[in-house]
Amino acid sequence: MTDAVFRNFIDGRFDEPSATFDSVDPSAGTAWARMPAASEADVDRAVGAAHRALRSDLWRRMTATARGKLLVKLGDLVAANVGRLAELETRDTGKIIRETRAQIAYVGDYYRYYGGLADKHEGTHVPVDKADLDVTIRSEPIGVVAAVVPWNSQLFLSAVKLGPALAAGCTIVLKASEDGPAPLLAFAELVHEAGFPAGVVNILTGFGHDCGRRLTSHPLVSRVAFTGGPSTARAVVRNTAENLAYTTLELGGKSPVVVFADADLDSAANAVVAGIFAATGQSCVAGSRLLVERSVKDEFLARLKRKAEAIRIGDPQDPATEMGPLATLRQRDWIEKVVAESLTAGGMLVTGGTRPVGSGFYYAPTIIDAGGSDLPCVREELFGPVLSVLAFDSEAQALALANDTPFGLASGVFTSNLGKAHRMARDIHAGVVWVNTYRAVSPLVPFGGYGLSGLGREGPRTSRSPIPSSCAELRRTQVH
Ligand code: NAD
Repeated sequence: MTDAVFRNFIDGRFDEPSATFDSVDPSAGTAWARMPAASEADVDRAVGAAHRALRSDLWRRMTATARGKLLVKLGDLVAANVGRLAELETRDTGKIIRETRAQIAYVGDYYRYYGGLADKHEGTHVPVDKADLDVTIRSEPIGVVAAVVPWNSQLFLSAVKLGPALAAGCTIVLKASEDGPAPLLAFAELVHEAGFPAGVVNILTGFGHDCGRRLTSHPLVSRVAFTGGPSTARAVVRNTAENLAYTTLELGGKSPVVVFADADLDSAANAVVAGIFAATGQSCVAGSRLLVERSVKDEFLARLKRKAEAIRIGDPQDPATEMGPLATLRQRDWIEKVVAESLTAGGMLVTGGTRPVGSGFYYAPTIIDAGGSDLPCVREELFGPVLSVLAFDSEAQALALANDTPFGLASGVFTSNLGKAHRMARDIHAGVVWVNTYRAVSPLVPFGGYGLSGLGREGPRTSRSPIPSSCAELRRTQVH
């Protein structure tokens, strides 16, 4: 039996669910709550409400400054509720409490950032080449936004969709993943409390094949913002053939971390360990491919092994725990399969490869010396705590290995040579290249990938980004 029941938030009301499914606590492997399974009819109601709200005077005539104030209030409410939201996310996904607390505290800043951005949209005046004709270009909300997120970091991933959409004056239907939706459904109460008009924000959960498919193909949706895996992204692109919605995709990665012999090796080892084992490896930017200069490989691997084996694995609600379980059993099955295939194909296990705790979906921090780059653990995104190691002998070889992937989301370079750092940062084909650090993100910096890692960018438009950000994309231009 489960004790908690969550509800969808549609048109300003919390619905009594007509269908539900169990949500599983990954640290125990048992159901703990019932989640609403939104049907296609529920999606139609939510999109209908968002479309009415978009056209309502209440929202359409609200000044951008007033919209911004609502976003700032939402940010403050998130900050005031970090403890409760973090506990729910930890319960529903197994992500450790010290990570969920820190990340959700930062989510408040994202809403405040977008609140400040709301009234900074300016139009332009064009000195057109026709006598007696004056042209102004005004930006306006693109329409109803459908946002779909995966199970890891749902509050964070939603903030970079909700924030710009609302700042731009759009309305939104946000689909939480069917895995671990509790924090987003609880966050809906804060949206309600912040005072957004009914229908402006709708939050629901359900399964991809019906709820997700209907939402992203809905004729009243003009913009799709999707985060998830590449194969689902292909389905979403097929869905948007129906409504021709402008679509951005934030997908997976197989991010390389390049460690040169001249790097501060202890600092690099800390970053590599945090880069792959934080969030139990379930992070789109996880540094899952270590490329290390051969002359320091053995020494560096010995450091990594020591650090990985010292990680405290256990109850994710315990603040002392450093690594929790995987979020789903399906995820652990997949990781075990790829690791087994990689070891059969010649990979050498440095550490891990086991289930360290009896119940729950735990998997030990794992390092595989891959030898060559053809092993499945080097090619596939595992989305788990598995680091594959390759050695290189020259800068050119390091670069070739770093770019030898269909993904291009994140990467890291560790070196004390400034020239080398700049060359690698310029030539690695990834949306982010961190130098002598890893995983630093900010609301002020655009984010996104190349190839199988996605399409478009989320975050602000800046002079450094030639690609319009989601905020700009959420407002189409209109010529008068
Ligand atoms: P997933 O692709 O299986 O699911 C993502 C979402 O899509 C879920 O809400 C799901 O219900 C929905 N969905 C499934 N089928 C659908 C369909 N046919 N139409 C519409 N929606 C559908 O992803 P996951 O396994 O939950 O998450 C892991 C993936 O997400 C990894 O690849 C990871 O790298 C990626 N990710 C990327 C980023 C980023 O910012 N680039 C961030 C986090 C996670």
